[in-house]
Amino acid sequence: AATEPLLAVRDLQAWYGESHVLHGMAFDVHPGEVVTLLGRNGAGKTTTLKSIMGVIEKRRGSIRFRGSELVGLASRHIARKGIAWCPEERGIFSSLDVKENLLLPPIVASGGFTLEQVFELFPNLKERLHSQGTKLSGGEQQMLAIGRILRTGARLLLLDEPTEGLAPVIVQQIGHMIRKLKSMGFTIVLVEQNFHAAATVADRHYIVEQGRIVDEIANDRLEASMGKLHRYLGV
Ligand code: ATP
Repeated sequence: AATEPLLAVRDLQAWYGESHVLHGMAFDVHPGEVVTLLGRNGAGKTTTLKSIMGVIEKRRGSIRFRGSELVGLASRHIARKGIAWCPEERGIFSSLDVKENLLLPPIVASGGFTLEQVFELFPNLKERLHSQGTKLSGGEQQMLAIGRILRTGARLLLLDEPTEGLAPVIVQQIGHMIRKLKSMGFTIVLVEQNFHAAATVADRHYIVEQGRIVDEIANDRLEASMGKLHRYLGV
């Protein structure tokens, strides 16, 4: 039997002021899945993650997490349900060092990573423990940003373009980390421009166009779907 979706998005609409950006997004994420949102710049992928997290206030429709409605809740209440968002800008504090950044996040649920568990996943960070945020490489900053949300105990992770601008070897490390988190039972919604990177980690892909899901592709159908994927993404 099919499992209940962990996250069920239905007819999601969102606005920035008067500008209507999401036009009825609908998709499901099942427990333990890694699902990507793929699409061109401006399609609405980031806005979808922000809507789930509640940082966009003007939204309508339904976002159910473990059966409970998130639309209408403030982001701090959504975070306490065990959802964490890693924004594209990463949001680490540049004036704080690695350890301080890792000690900041509020713990919202049991099972949050200890510092040691973060360093097990990202050994590089341990060597940089007392380096300021600004002194880190792009890859280290991304690892710190992800390490930080793992501290909270959230089990649904919303990752916005974690591989953007990183060298291929770091992209591989991030891919390895995402597979490891999946094996630990985390559920992940991943926004990616780099669908080669996405293909190595995801179970399913949703294609976003003009604020809607227009297609869904299982990862084992990705090769066979290259033609239409290229059309969707304009690559
Ligand atoms: P990208 O990879 O470029 O971020 P995306 O698919 O994530 O693409 P969004 O960032 O969700 O797209 O943007 C969707 C639409 O909303 C775009 O037309 C964008 O210009 C607009 N938009 C995004 N952020 C804002 C904002 N803060 N204020 C007004 N409009 C915005």
